[in-house]
Amino acid sequence: MSKLEGKVAVVTGGNSGIGYASAQKLKQEGARVIITGRNAEKVSAAAAELDVKGLVADVSSVSAIDELVKQVQSEFGKVDVLFVNAGIFQPAPVGQVSEEMLDHQMGINFKGAVFTIEKFLPILNEGASIINLSSVNAYTGMPNTAVYAASKAALNSYTRTAATELAPRKIRVNAVNPGPVATPIFSKTGMPEEQLNGFAEAMQNRVPLKRFGEPADIANLVAFLASDDASFITGGEYNIDGGINVNPLLS
Ligand code: NAD
Repeated sequence: MSKLEGKVAVVTGGNSGIGYASAQKLKQEGARVIITGRNAEKVSAAAAELDVKGLVADVSSVSAIDELVKQVQSEFGKVDVLFVNAGIFQPAPVGQVSEEMLDHQMGINFKGAVFTIEKFLPILNEGASIINLSSVNAYTGMPNTAVYAASKAALNSYTRTAATELAPRKIRVNAVNPGPVATPIFSKTGMPEEQLNGFAEAMQNRVPLKRFGEPADIANLVAFLASDDASFITGGEYNIDGGINVNPLLS
């Protein structure tokens, strides 16, 4: 039997990249999947391709998350897997961090994640799995990522406390920390193509396995953490990074 047969899974930011691949994998494993995103056209195109439910909800708006939860509840009832994946990457050097940029990035990557969990909690089944998409950046001093890294470090911290507090309901909460993964997130930064290519090459050279991750690599881990195979795993963090985190100095 498929590992997620009979389960309902919500993937925020499921119309692109890691979220898209994870929605595909969760569905392959038998789950009924709902993807969300900000852009109605992109969400409905992705939902049609994946043959899943697509709902529009900007996670930086608490009232939009409230509305999302209502819609999911009325159509699907309770939820078993909550993949808190929606996020943005806005690089900026220390000294050039604007208030607007900080609020925007923290508002999606941290506040958005927290309120996604807060608002879905009432409709999570006992034994549900929450998976928070963080980043190895939470532990690095990579230039230009101070605010992004802090948003992910905050999420990892929240994950640990939530795991303890939700354990009485047998709800497991874990974080996944990818290294560089080939998704559209980098092109959305507005960096010129030449700079992006240089960044990608330098990054790849530092990964011991000498490649970027593929969204499907992350999806496999997400599907494992979502399943009952991971029933004794909570409060954990999983680096999935081709080894970059253990080899910061030598390429
Ligand atoms: P992506 O740009 O392909 O996907 C991001 C998704 O989040 C999109 O579906 C987008 O619509 C959604 N999103 C963004 N802001 C939103 C908002 N306000 N409300 C609702 N949805 C919103 O990028 P990705 O690389 O697949 O990113 C997914 C997650 O992975 C992010 O949290 C990112 O920080 C994290 N991550 C990515 C990498 C990488 O190298 N690609 C590495 C580590 C962590």
